[in-house]
Amino acid sequence: MNQMIAYCGLTCTDCPAYVATQANDQEALENVAAEWREMFNAPEITAESILCDGCIVDGRKSGYCAMCDIRPCAIERGVINCAHCDDYACEKLEGFFAHAPEARDVLNKIREV
Ligand code: SF4
Ligand code: SF4
Repeated sequence: MNQMIAYCGLTCTDCPAYVATQANDQEALENVAAEWREMFNAPEITAESILCDGCIVDGRKSGYCAMCDIRPCAIERGVINCAHCDDYACEKLEGFFAHAPEARDVLNKIREV
């Protein structure tokens, strides 16, 4: 599977919701939903609500990604991902990095190239 890096720097192809969706694996989706219900204290999460086709393509977006404001911003600016944005590490992105430091590492590496 080719790696898919999201606008924010997350690796969609490493996300268990993405992997289970693409494999059409209902049992894995149920397991991920159960894990995330607990982890995020979010009883509303269901297997259906985490179906995901990835950030940089059209299609289904899982959970938080369906409400994310980084994606529409990057699309509007026409950047491949936030690493290529003139306003890299804007307030929005910094707020997100606080919860996903691994995404910052990915984008910083891209900026080093
Ligand atoms: S929808 Fe937003 S949070 Fe989700 S992977 Fe894409 S940019 Fe990141
Ligand atoms: S302004 Fe921020 S969220 Fe929008 S594309 Fe640039 S770095 Fe990403």
